[in-house]
Amino acid sequence: MRRERVSDDIYVFTSDLYAQVTASAVVTREGIIAIDTLPFPEETRSMIEFLEGLGRGGVRYLINTHWHGDHTYGNYLFEGVQLVGHQRCADALLELGAPTLEDSKETSPELEEVELRVPDITFEQGDMLLHLGGKSLQMVLTPGHTTDSTVVYVREDKVLLAADTVMPLPYFVWGSREEFITSLERVLEFNMDSIVQGHGEVLLRGEIQSAIQGSIRYLNLLYKKVKRVIEEGGGLEALRRIDIESCGKSRIPLNGLVQDLHEANLYTLYQQMANGN
Ligand SMILES: [Zn+2]
Repeated sequence: MRRERVSDDIYVFTSDLYAQVTASAVVTREGIIAIDTLPFPEETRSMIEFLEGLGRGGVRYLINTHWHGDHTYGNYLFEGVQLVGHQRCADALLELGAPTLEDSKETSPELEEVELRVPDITFEQGDMLLHLGGKSLQMVLTPGHTTDSTVVYVREDKVLLAADTVMPLPYFVWGSREEFITSLERVLEFNMDSIVQGHGEVLLRGEIQSAIQGSIRYLNLLYKKVKRVIEEGGGLEALRRIDIESCGKSRIPLNGLVQDLHEANLYTLYQQMANGN
């Protein structure tokens, strides 16, 4: 696990074990707010140990940004900590998270001890504001990666903890390409010094515009190219020829994992469009 500081009071923890997934923590005068967990118990434990060791009142709240296991499997380790999330996240954890966890346990014995835990404090309409020890965290629903995706904006620090709404490559297999574009446009409205992505490197002020615009462009180009394949009756072979660079994105980030995400995006969109959705 790699640890860095993006502002005086915000720490980011990046997994060495799975897809450079990130979790964060905001340190306030009255305790700490953690945002997401790391996938494997060992790394979430070291994150908690570090935060408790700061002597700043321990972790008071944990926020879940969406239901995916790589961000939530550590929930159960935050004992006695109130868990906050969108109602859609609570619903999706029960409906989709529970069976996925059982499957993951089969392939990853390290997850054997993991217990599903869902948010106790939820919001359903509009944004949620969490105020603690001089910090204000604004939670905004930004569907696209998943239907329950939420970003967390720390007003005093001008840092957006974006989770998978901002990744090196937007991945919409569990969500919606169209909603993703609207959500990325919403993200650009925040006044940001940096963005903590759900996977990979922190984006600094000068990189934000081009990264987000590049993701919107990718989502639009992908649509155009898949549409052309369908119109020309090109089939799966033509679909596979739509490479990631031709949609304006690099194949290098996340040790090449973005290639797999791109292919999954292609197939999902092709299926939806071929079925007339
Ligand atoms: Zn995710």
